[in-house]
Amino acid sequence: MPTVERSSAQNLTSHVTRLCVGPALPDDPMGRTRAFVFTLATALTLAVCLFYFVFFLAVGRSFDGWVVFGLVPLTLLNTLQCRRPDGLVRALIGLGVATNFLILYLVYREGGVGPTSWWLIVPPYMFVNCGMHREAIVALAANVAAESVLLLVNRFGTPLSSDMGTAPDLLFLSSRIGLAIVMLSSMIVLDRSRATTLASLRQANSKLERANESALAAAEAKARFLATMSHEIRTPMNGVMGAAELLKRTSLDAKQGHYLDTLQHSGIHLLELINDVLDFSKLEAGKAQLEQRPFNPRDLVEDVLESLAPRAHAKALVLHARVAPEVPETIVGDAARLRQILTNLGANAVKFTSVGDVGITVGTVGHASAGHCRLRLAVRDTGIGLDVEQSTRLFQAFTQADGSTTRIYGGTGLGLAISNELARLMGGSIVIDSTPGEGASFSCELEFPVAAQDAPAPPLEGQVLVVDPFAATRESLAELLLAMGVQVQAAAQMPAALPAETTLLLSSRALITASNTAAFRAALEFHRVVLVLPCDAEFSTYAQTTPHLFEPIRRACLRATLQALWHPTSTALPAATQDTLAGPVARHVLLVEDNPVNLEVAAAMLEQAGCEVDIARDGREAIERWMRGHHELVLMDCQMPVLDGLAATRGIRAAEAASGRDRCRIVALTANAFPDDRARCLEAGMDDFLSKPFTFAQLEQIVRQPSATTA
Ligand code: ADP
Repeated sequence: MPTVERSSAQNLTSHVTRLCVGPALPDDPMGRTRAFVFTLATALTLAVCLFYFVFFLAVGRSFDGWVVFGLVPLTLLNTLQCRRPDGLVRALIGLGVATNFLILYLVYREGGVGPTSWWLIVPPYMFVNCGMHREAIVALAANVAAESVLLLVNRFGTPLSSDMGTAPDLLFLSSRIGLAIVMLSSMIVLDRSRATTLASLRQANSKLERANESALAAAEAKARFLATMSHEIRTPMNGVMGAAELLKRTSLDAKQGHYLDTLQHSGIHLLELINDVLDFSKLEAGKAQLEQRPFNPRDLVEDVLESLAPRAHAKALVLHARVAPEVPETIVGDAARLRQILTNLGANAVKFTSVGDVGITVGTVGHASAGHCRLRLAVRDTGIGLDVEQSTRLFQAFTQADGSTTRIYGGTGLGLAISNELARLMGGSIVIDSTPGEGASFSCELEFPVAAQDAPAPPLEGQVLVVDPFAATRESLAELLLAMGVQVQAAAQMPAALPAETTLLLSSRALITASNTAAFRAALEFHRVVLVLPCDAEFSTYAQTTPHLFEPIRRACLRATLQALWHPTSTALPAATQDTLAGPVARHVLLVEDNPVNLEVAAAMLEQAGCEVDIARDGREAIERWMRGHHELVLMDCQMPVLDGLAATRGIRAAEAASGRDRCRIVALTANAFPDDRARCLEAGMDDFLSKPFTFAQLEQIVRQPSATTA
């Protein structure tokens, strides 16, 4: 935020005001006026004193009365400092004022005489006004001492001036007593004033505390309400999405298939919306906490790219990523939240780009503290872009750059607010750099502790020529291969001839122009060729017979494919294939679910996955069935009548311990979606957590995971 420069005149006024009336008090609407009047009165007094001093020097005569003239308005105005002066204070002030008038009268009657050190009167007065009572008393004592010295000199020595030394003692004494009373009254007035102010401050504070407490309670209630709503919406959504997925596995004509796709996309959109609102409310209530676990930033970027690929490839956008070689393999932080930031930014980049590419880059920047690395994560696109004015308001929740585009692109305006808040939690913030019509770049710099690095994989020995007309994908693929120890060359187009022993890595973009050329036919005949296809590619003629990889390319897949190609005897399989074959299906599954629709959907999915399904409709029934059966896996809903899923899990774990039976794998199937819900499930003894609505693939992965070990 730009800071507003204060003018020197304003500074001077505020200094004088502080000096005269002390610091500004909150909750005091009259404060400014009072300060102004008080400052004016002080200035007048000083002017009068100055005039008096000059007059004294010029004509050698003194007039105590001038000083008193100045003191009277000061005393009066001191009363204004006290908002509700009580009787004693009023009496003291009245006495002080009356005494000053008496002195004035005496001075007038005597013709303006009396020893005076008026300049010593002003400092104690100032001190009083600043609330520096001790200093005021010291100054007053100095004043009286100076007066006494003057008196003695005038009595026993040579009078200092023609009119000094002739002052009667009574006048001198009454003048000093009058001043002392004025001082004392001022002090008492100020003390009372401060006490009143303190009391009202305390009152205001406790009001604020109460307001704060009720705001926190309201935020808590809102978060609870949203969590309940989310649970209630997710439960039927699970039925809708699950049934749609089951329907998709039946034979449908093209029109029915299209309607079903629309249904599924709308469901996914609705879910994203619920997740955004939940996340935002959690961040707003200050309840989001970051995990600190080791993770591999390269794997994370690959995950993000994989989730963006279907949308990007459907729009024929080139999607690419580059993680600089100097970025450590393992860092410590909240991978899920970082993935959420990059996915949000990436999804926006894809959404707001119709032609060109979307790229994610991760590199190191600046100086990081010892044992840490500072990463710059950026998502860049060639889309509609933003102007400066739009960029400044995007991080506010529910804000979009151009409201009229909502109809075209949809969205809630929450994604950036959430991402920026998450980046802030991680110690950074998102910066936008954009030119309207040319694209945008969203980046943030974050620091992470560096974890112990795994030993690098053994180098791959071989030669590869990467052919891709798009420079960014070509270079990032070449860099990946280089890091694996491969000898790499890269070209934008298919060369006329290939060096012997070279494996050709040909992108689908290069394939368009190369497929009918003699060079390509020769390469297929005499060289090893791997095609790189978009994730939604229809299998081309070549792909049926030629090894291929799908974009975005995972490092593990690339390595496994090349290894299988170069060393066919090795048992290594591409990672994608390994995934699909992971673990045998758990045969006997106990499904615990009280909602009839969700029960039907999950049971049908499990049967399609090859499981035998036993059913329980509440926690108690689940324990009974588990006791009688030999289940390899229990899928447990959490909120159920009679006995909930957490209690049922504890019951099963206790029964296992008592009977010495093998530990059975229990996985939560729940519409509660917060990380705390997951923690509660694990704490109750569950092994994993799948939030509703889930897909067939997610459920299949759960039933294929190996059984838990014996307790
Ligand atoms: P949503 O995308 O759901 O509207 P976001 O908070 O993610 O919400 O984005 C807010 C707004 O910022 C978008 O509506 C859009 O106007 C603008 N915006 C975000 N990313 C981009 C981008 N890459 N290019 C152009 N505009 C963008």
